[in-house]
Amino acid sequence: MSQDSVAKQDKQKQAPLLLEDEALRDGLQIESQIFTINQKIEFFNMLKKAGVKRIQVGSFVHPKIVPQMADSDELIKVLGSQADTVISALILNSKGLERAMACAVPHVSMSVSISDTHSRKNARRPATEALISMVELIKSARSQGLEVRAGLQSAFGCVYEGTISESAVLAAAEKMTLAGVNEINLADSSGMANPYSIKSLVKQVTQEFPEVRISLHLHDTRGLGLANMFSGYEAGVRVFDVCTGGLGGCPFIKGAAGNVPTEDAVNMFESMGIDTGIEPNTIIEAVAFLEKILNRHLPGRMKRVLSFEQSCDTQ
Ligand SMILES: [Zn+2]
Repeated sequence: MSQDSVAKQDKQKQAPLLLEDEALRDGLQIESQIFTINQKIEFFNMLKKAGVKRIQVGSFVHPKIVPQMADSDELIKVLGSQADTVISALILNSKGLERAMACAVPHVSMSVSISDTHSRKNARRPATEALISMVELIKSARSQGLEVRAGLQSAFGCVYEGTISESAVLAAAEKMTLAGVNEINLADSSGMANPYSIKSLVKQVTQEFPEVRISLHLHDTRGLGLANMFSGYEAGVRVFDVCTGGLGGCPFIKGAAGNVPTEDAVNMFESMGIDTGIEPNTIIEAVAFLEKILNRHLPGRMKRVLSFEQSCDTQ
């Protein structure tokens, strides 16, 4: 590895930790209850108040297929530009890019699956075809000045296809890097990663593309979310997707759980002396807000812990 590559990797490790909350998108997209735009705005403001620096607020998908995201354009327009918080959205096709440009969202994720079967179910097209058109779309978005991160779904395994080869992930990452993305998001959509596979893939992607920031999207399906997050951190990753309360799953992956709960990630890092910039008690209020609307407990642990500590304090 060249000295230049090592310097770029060191720079990535020195960057402050960034937790991107995706409850408004990855979480709400599978809920049968559709949140109103005012509920979404209230929840966004809670995350912002807690100190979350990047929030994925929606996706530009067909409103008939995912009605929960139908108001993404309007929501982004209402939120406008926010000091200290980057508003992001997910794009899966050319119509999505048109909508993103029309509502002037400053940051987007453009995502494809490495698994052919997952791609056919999720995006209704073969993985190779989806990648080719996504690369063209990324080039178009970059030429229009949009900040783009590329998402590679099922990068650590697929419930339909089993093992996903690291070389397939690297080949897709190369195409997206050449198209001009500044961040590659490796997504464990099936929750099949383990701390060793995280370390191995992050190491390879970092070595091949030292100029690109790596982020991780970790579904906690098998209870390894936090362990995988820590492994990623040790391997130099400083950007992680999280979901308040651990909300979420995937309609095409049986038994899928949500992302690592924001409050649990905050607790893990802060307890190790690593600053997240997020205030735990405020994020807990956001968990309570979701639980009240959804009328159920969410899987995150820290709300129960902090609520218990507070009730002890008052006794
Ligand atoms: Zn996800």
